[in-house]
Amino acid sequence: MINTCWVNGCTNRADDSVKRSFYTIPVVRKFEGEQTKTLSEERRRTWLANINRRDVPSKHSKICSDHFIQGKPADLYNRSHPDWAPTLKLCDISGPLKSKKMKTKETDMEKY
Ligand SMILES: [Zn+2]
Repeated sequence: MINTCWVNGCTNRADDSVKRSFYTIPVVRKFEGEQTKTLSEERRRTWLANINRRDVPSKHSKICSDHFIQGKPADLYNRSHPDWAPTLKLCDISGPLKSKKMKTKETDMEKY
């Protein structure tokens, strides 16, 4: 099976001549304590929000190292690390960066 990056618009494949690493979407770790469960749930949610696809990843969905500042995801317990979730080359502009503040402003403007 050929691994293609799961990020929308990213065409990197595991068999490209450039050596890249591929990382699976984090799964929720239910049986390793409450902290691990909470963190892993949050991490999975953050990854999916950042990647911003409509469909749900399969067990085989992977994303490539291009989406991490240091080329690899940070440790689960390193919550404040910028690579805790992918942030680079996520091409959907209308995606996760659209903040709630913008929406509030638009609504406020309509009043006038
Ligand atoms: Zn990619």
